[in-house]
Amino acid sequence: MRIDLHTHSNRSDGTDSPAELVRNARDVARLDVVALTDHDAMTGWDEALAAGEELGITVVPGVEISTTFHGESVHLLGYAFDPHHPALVDELQRVLDGRDQRLPRILEKLAEHDIHVTAEDVAAHSGDAAASGRPHVADAMVAKGYIKDRDEAFDGWLNTRGRAYVERYSAPLVDAVRLVKDAGGKAVVAHPWSRGSDRVLTADAFELLVDAGLDGIEADHNDHDEQARAGLRAIAADLDLVVTGSSDYHGTGKSEAFRLGANLTDPEQYHRLLG
Ligand code: AMP
Ligand code: ZN
Ligand code: FE
Ligand code: FE
Repeated sequence: MRIDLHTHSNRSDGTDSPAELVRNARDVARLDVVALTDHDAMTGWDEALAAGEELGITVVPGVEISTTFHGESVHLLGYAFDPHHPALVDELQRVLDGRDQRLPRILEKLAEHDIHVTAEDVAAHSGDAAASGRPHVADAMVAKGYIKDRDEAFDGWLNTRGRAYVERYSAPLVDAVRLVKDAGGKAVVAHPWSRGSDRVLTADAFELLVDAGLDGIEADHNDHDEQARAGLRAIAADLDLVVTGSSDYHGTGKSEAFRLGANLTDPEQYHRLLG
């Protein structure tokens, strides 16, 4: 069984529609199970689940929540929860609103450096998305010829040290874990040891998250080298957490290293997590 538990469609910052993503999961990556985990949005669920039924591939509905823990950005994957749970829906809307609200300030900062991108330019790239994020600003900068790809936009301009960086709201991590659990879902920390979050997501921190209901750790991810993967597996073993692996596919929004199926979840771990 080939299982990929973390992917993005154009309902956040991927480039495939949810149905295209599911089709690619089956036909290109030969997956048996794919989870759709758009940033802070469930707007792709219906289309992805319908495509899964039609094409005969299991689709796990999910989300990747933008959270914060001790001042660092941490991403939390939630799976198979009630998408109408009021408190969870409210919290995700706060994140989406925060993303949209900071957009004018990002564009002002870019303009100060003679990079002229309008809200309409960004909207041309975020049309199907639940909110306009930094990757869509990057796409607009590429389209206008200022830079060559999303990576270049983040490196010089949009990352936390970038010249056009503007902070936005993210959900407190422990609260986010509790909300996913209250909504009847499963919670897994995404790429815990990617840059920044490795400082705060210690073994003790994971213990605290287990108390809040955490189910698993995404160890096999392109942001982790072999040493990080082994370290995270050891913590998972200690705390009896599930270990997952995934591609974090974004269509053409990320490099080929993040192609569908680039990292997989062991079937035994998948069954522990999602039955
Ligand atoms: P935002 O949520 O709008 O603050 O944008 C953050 C999102 O941008 C992350 O969740 C990633 O999906 C994406 N991202 C971060 N760094 C890069 C990069 N170097 N290239 C492309 N996308 C990135
Ligand atoms: Zn993304
Ligand atoms: Fe992420
Ligand atoms: Fe992701």
